[in-house]
Amino acid sequence: MTGRALRPVSLPEQLAAVRRDPLRVLVVGAGVAGVTLAQLLRTAGLHPVLVDRRTADAAPGYMLGLMPLVDPALRLLGVEDAYRERSVPVRRYALRDRTGRPVREYDLGSLLAFGDYRGIERGELLAVLAAAGGAVTHGATVTGLEQDGGRVRAVLADGAGEERAEFDAVIAADGMHSATRALVLDSGQVTGFDTGWGGWVGWAGADGAPDRYDECWGAGFLLGTYPVPDRVGVFVGGPRRDTAAGPAAFAARVRGQVRGGDVRLDGALAAVAGAGTRFWPMTDVRSATWSAGRVGLVGDAAAGFLPTAGIGAGMAIESAAVLGRLLLQATPDSVPEVLRRFEARQRPRVEAAQQNSRLLSRLVFRTSRPAAVARDLAARFLSLDRALAPIRRLLADRPEI
Ligand SMILES: Cc1cc2nc3c(=O)[nH]c(=O)nc-3n(C[C@H](O)[C@H](O)[C@H](O)COP(=O)(O)OP(=O)(O)OC[C@H]3O[C@@H](n4cnc5c(N)ncnc54)[C@H](O)[C@@H]3O)c2cc1C
Repeated sequence: MTGRALRPVSLPEQLAAVRRDPLRVLVVGAGVAGVTLAQLLRTAGLHPVLVDRRTADAAPGYMLGLMPLVDPALRLLGVEDAYRERSVPVRRYALRDRTGRPVREYDLGSLLAFGDYRGIERGELLAVLAAAGGAVTHGATVTGLEQDGGRVRAVLADGAGEERAEFDAVIAADGMHSATRALVLDSGQVTGFDTGWGGWVGWAGADGAPDRYDECWGAGFLLGTYPVPDRVGVFVGGPRRDTAAGPAAFAARVRGQVRGGDVRLDGALAAVAGAGTRFWPMTDVRSATWSAGRVGLVGDAAAGFLPTAGIGAGMAIESAAVLGRLLLQATPDSVPEVLRRFEARQRPRVEAAQQNSRLLSRLVFRTSRPAAVARDLAARFLSLDRALAPIRRLLADRPEI
């Protein structure tokens, strides 16, 4: 089902194409931010070099819920229809207590009000963003960056060896644990927030409620189900000292705490017991600065997100579009100034959303039973409007793209 719209090519082929561009850009990381940025630059006839450390056949990942923050970027790329075809509208959010009993159901349409919240697989999203085609080199990364005067010299490595090339701008879009960021910032410039929790993603079959997100907030676990077309993404997580037992043992532990007989919860627990082994620690990062000369950071490399507010990918796409528009107006000389302007525009928005995700994690990730019992009582009166107020403000006041 997943279509890969980007054409895998060798590094020398991409380096030959960028050489005569009026603005030579290297984008490190072909995730949601990197692909959005590269494709936007390509709409203007540029040939940004796009590399990703993963091989072409690597599994693209997990389910994503996307806020309408992404709509302007999708419009610019001309991929709105493909996006709607390959995603589902998420209209309802159901909250359950620590035993799996439904507490409340919220109408997301009226909550977000500024467009659709939609569920999509990450691989499908990448294919949608890249629908116009373009080049990518897999199994490649940047291992050295040196700046002097008006350019940045990069050392690029793929399985075949090393290449050296000059660029006007290098953009680190290589995610939360960005190795490109580590080439230009000191470790003290990158701080993080660790919830102490982590978990796994699995997949269950579609059920009768493809428009409903469902979360069970337990004492020492979170069991969430998030539909995409034709199936349901599942996340189960808990404190890392408990998840250390592995997905099957942890799922059995959760099963002992929730009542059986519910199609969604039973399917989710079965899916997670057999989930892949990729474990996601629930941590985030924040960079003290988003650029160093001609090297800029975007997406999770600039500010990485916990999944709790379902907004990291939306923010990454929005930021990549803002950066792309600014770079399209830049000259080689103005790149450092343009990267600073990008940071001034986006960083307050991104950090406000990140803070909202951190606050939600404190509400959701409760370990002790008394704390979960107290939260179950409070949850009956929980106003999602209030819990997501900072994000609602971001949706109401979007940047010009
Ligand atoms: C389980 C889970 C669920 C989530 N759910 C949601 C959700 O519902 N809604 C939402 O909006 N957000 C969600 N998020 C957060 C969201 O996925 C991220 O915020 C978003 O993907 C960030 O985009 P990015 O392009 O910066 O990074 P990524 O999408 O992580 O892409 C980074 C890319 O860089 C590549 N790379 C890494 N290192 C290197 C290197 N050294 N050299 C070259 N390439 C490299 C990687 O292979 C990858 O392709 C979730 C995250 C997780 C883990």
